[in-house]
Amino acid sequence: MSGDRNISKETLVQWDDDYVWHPFTPHSVYRDEKPLTVVAGEGHYLIDADGEKYLDAVGSIWCNLFGHRRDEIDDAVREQLDHIAHSTMLGNTNDRPVILAKRLLEHAPAAMDKVFYSDNGSTSVEIAMKMALQFWQQHDDGSQGQRTKFMGLANAYSGDTIGAVSVGGIDLFHSRFGPMLFETVRGPSPVTYHRPQQMSREEARRRFVDDFDRVIDAHGEELAAVVIEPGMQGAGGMITYPPGFLAHAAEKIRDAGSLLVVDEVAMGMGRSGEMFACQREGVDPDFLCVAKGLTGGYIPVAATLTTDRVYEAFLGPPEEGRTFFHGHTYTGNALGCAAALATLDIFENEDILDDVRRKEELLAARLEALWELDHVGDIRQYGLAAGIEVVADADERRSFDSAQRVGMQICTAAREKGVFLRPLGDVIVLMPPLTITDDEIDHLVGAIEFGIDAVLSG
Ligand code: PMP
Repeated sequence: MSGDRNISKETLVQWDDDYVWHPFTPHSVYRDEKPLTVVAGEGHYLIDADGEKYLDAVGSIWCNLFGHRRDEIDDAVREQLDHIAHSTMLGNTNDRPVILAKRLLEHAPAAMDKVFYSDNGSTSVEIAMKMALQFWQQHDDGSQGQRTKFMGLANAYSGDTIGAVSVGGIDLFHSRFGPMLFETVRGPSPVTYHRPQQMSREEARRRFVDDFDRVIDAHGEELAAVVIEPGMQGAGGMITYPPGFLAHAAEKIRDAGSLLVVDEVAMGMGRSGEMFACQREGVDPDFLCVAKGLTGGYIPVAATLTTDRVYEAFLGPPEEGRTFFHGHTYTGNALGCAAALATLDIFENEDILDDVRRKEELLAARLEALWELDHVGDIRQYGLAAGIEVVADADERRSFDSAQRVGMQICTAAREKGVFLRPLGDVIVLMPPLTITDDEIDHLVGAIEFGIDAVLSG
């Protein structure tokens, strides 16, 4: 039998421990931290093998937009199975990715003209970087590919492939791989919570922007591209930027003659209240990377959007070698693109973006109450995404010892209230489905309050 559904939870747990190695998971504590054994989903809830339901408050790692088993997406995938599951996009095409490209561009910033598919967020960024490098080699400006460097900000995260890790700036995840990474230009970190005791937040924000400008001034001429997560640095700890930063950075990068890659993997697909976060600041990038929510959280499909200017530099007789030699087996997977088309239908048929903007304010109002808690140091929100940083001493902005795994303890405690959360260190992350109800927002924030109290009071 291909997959018995009557296997007991005990057996699944045993097999999980015996046979599976989990991503971003320290296995010495994995079982003690009470992982769910999900066997089904229903709307905004995950269903564990023992039948318990949990609000999926991190949208299955930030990709689930409209809940699990949405009829429209289920039906689109089922219907596609009656046609074809997958066919190659290498030198060939398929109706689903073609239609999706056209419709995706209708929602994208005006500068975007072409869609290049892949299958995860990391590759969507990797592709933008490789395209940028090759663009400068083939761009007819006499520079002959002198722009070979990439710039990323401290604390950035763009995925786990080599280019994405090289441009990433999270020491805990990235420094170990140093010997296999390439050198990048490092911009400053937008973290303003952890700052010198005497410095105001406003000063810290100004310092960040000034430092960013200085790095561009120093390296602008050698930069092939600058990679920025618009709206918020996600995996770095839900870090917001000074208001207007992206628009400022885009102008600075353009003035330096370089290219801007917006990594919309986390904040794209409606999270900001616009389809893409860069649209909230009226920014037209050179590359836009989208993954996670593109298929509503169903099937891995990613895309790198770019301009005709970039695309045209890759044209020429094949023997000139201007072709972009990059592609994956599952590039433009038809089942995934069918799910993505149904996802766009939901955006178009329901007032999802308006509703996100309304709930952004509701969530902000509800989170306000958490400032009262002794160990809440910072609350950062962007659209329908938020991070609550708990600290040992809020007056001194002093963090807990990471060995205490306080963030994880709080998330495990919140499970008692029927909420599934996964922290980033001691930052409790909220990335709920965009269709979360007002009552569920209340319940979610209440569960976090409960978790913080259970772990840290007394
Ligand atoms: N970019 C950003 C901003 C992300 O948040 C992530 C994943 N958390 C990625 C890229 C990588 O995406 P994936 O995990 O699909 O490779």
